[in-house]
Amino acid sequence: MNLRHYVRDIPDYPKKGITFYDITPILSSPEAFQYVMDQLYEKYKNCGADKIVAADARGFIFGAPLALRMGVPFIPVRKPGKLPFKNRCVTYDLEYGSDTLCMHVDAVDPGDKILMIDDLLATGGTAEGMVQLVKEAGGEIVGCGFVIQLGFLDGDKVMKAAGVDHDFLIE
Ligand code: 5GP
Repeated sequence: MNLRHYVRDIPDYPKKGITFYDITPILSSPEAFQYVMDQLYEKYKNCGADKIVAADARGFIFGAPLALRMGVPFIPVRKPGKLPFKNRCVTYDLEYGSDTLCMHVDAVDPGDKILMIDDLLATGGTAEGMVQLVKEAGGEIVGCGFVIQLGFLDGDKVMKAAGVDHDFLIE
């Protein structure tokens, strides 16, 4: 299947000069969505993950069904103020400014083997924040998968610098 066919380029979104890669055509096609889930499952079924961590919001779309299929817990990572129980948060640098990501304090235990999932790797800021969050909780990252990697940005380098082996379905 040519998955790229199911990613729609939206020029000047969310602001002028930025192209947004819209994954909703994947979700609108049960065949394409199933294909993505099958690919992720085949890639990670034997990675030894105890839990899957995914970022709000599009990471949930792929991370949650994968967790169910692998038979492991799903852990949502969200912006501050969204998770109701006690939070563990990290603030990480972006090109301009910073951002904060949080998860529940009892979500990752020391020694947990974690698979990270998101829809898209761009600058790597979000993924780096998630790595920090998992490591601070004592978790070990055993896999990190994206549906799309934007090869013209630095996400690849950022992940290497963070010491995380990542993979993606299309670039
Ligand atoms: P990064 O932090 O690597 O710059 O951006 C990746 C994060 O922002 C991911 O969580 C992803 O959902 C979102 N994101 C940034 N740009 C895009 C885009 O063009 N398309 C989609 N689908 N998500 C994006």
